[in-house]
Amino acid sequence: LNRSLAGMGTTIFAEMSALATATGAINLGQGFPDTDGPREIAEAAARAVLEGRGNQYPPGPGIPELRTAIAEHQHRFYGLSYDPDTEVLVTAGATEALAAALLALLEPGDEVIAFEPFYDSYAACIAMAGAKRVPLTLRAPAFRPDLDELRALITPRTRLLLVNTPHNPTGTVLTPEELAAIAELAVEHDLLVITDEVYEHLVFTGAHHPLAALPGMRERTVSISSAGKTFSFTGWKVGWVTASPALVAAVRTAKQYLTYVSAGPFQYAVAEALRLPDAYYADFRADLHRKRDLLAAGLAAAGFGVHEPQGTYFITTDITPLGEKDGLEFCRTLPARCGVVAVPNVVFYDDAEAGRSLVRFAFCKRVRVIEEAVSRLGTLR
Ligand code: PMP
Ligand code: GLN
Repeated sequence: LNRSLAGMGTTIFAEMSALATATGAINLGQGFPDTDGPREIAEAAARAVLEGRGNQYPPGPGIPELRTAIAEHQHRFYGLSYDPDTEVLVTAGATEALAAALLALLEPGDEVIAFEPFYDSYAACIAMAGAKRVPLTLRAPAFRPDLDELRALITPRTRLLLVNTPHNPTGTVLTPEELAAIAELAVEHDLLVITDEVYEHLVFTGAHHPLAALPGMRERTVSISSAGKTFSFTGWKVGWVTASPALVAAVRTAKQYLTYVSAGPFQYAVAEALRLPDAYYADFRADLHRKRDLLAAGLAAAGFGVHEPQGTYFITTDITPLGEKDGLEFCRTLPARCGVVAVPNVVFYDDAEAGRSLVRFAFCKRVRVIEEAVSRLGTLR
């Protein structure tokens, strides 16, 4: 294994999902819904396959129908205008978008400031690019970025800020003031920004604001999102980038040699999904809002310290009120103790102390599954 990937052998998501399968436990670890997205969108994918649309290599940047739908979505929800031909790129999930963007934009030795806890592929891709990740720790209980600390972390080697809002795993949604402060620093120091907004439609408290909409940001920001979360088809792996022509061209160059193109028929279906009426987005959010509240109340009743998320489909908890200290050990033994799988946040930190006792539960599950999980967790103390 390449030295840059040392210690990154198996992602925590694979480890914990394998544990759920092996033990038959309820899987509130890896973030994927246990109910598929809209039937008509699944049918659109099936139709595309059967009608021979996208069964051979689609265009490298993505099919025009999808690029147009992505541009329309950015305008419909945020008033952002992107040219579908030069400013939109379809990728194999947000994961490939992140990888291609980081590989395209970083030189060895560059520094990247990223929130921690961080989504695990950030660390791997920054390492593969030969760059250095500089963490800005979001600390319990509020998990807000300290903007003075951010300013202090910027050096002449800083090339890029990697932002994630709504934030996995803490559920933090950046406020307009926080975004404005980040944007100001990016402009002042002439930094590129990659913003991972895959949970853009999953905000329960406050609202999602795309970083690219702030003054001075459109030209320096690579915005990334994905159909997986918004439409509950995480297995389709359709993601996208919106950015200036120069940045999209750079990311496309890297993407060409990673996957060349992304799966064709799903692109037709996602183009339809993005055009679903506002009621789809509102109902989806309302359903998850109820599930957030259900799981949060259940976890609190079971004795966990609950950090209520503003967005995403995850709740970060503190296990110290249960008399536990070590989240990794807790998650490895939880299936045997009570038949539930969760994810230890500590694996998303360099500063292990900051994340040691934090454990993440996903609530993108059927109500009866959440209720059963909560009743099992209630036996812990
Ligand atoms: N970024 C974050 C913050 C995520 O939580 C996820 C999904 N696990 C991804 C990126 C990857 O998205 P995709 O499945 O579209 O590759
Ligand atoms: N994004 C999901 C999570 O955070 C799953 C990611 C993955 O399996 N790579 O759980």
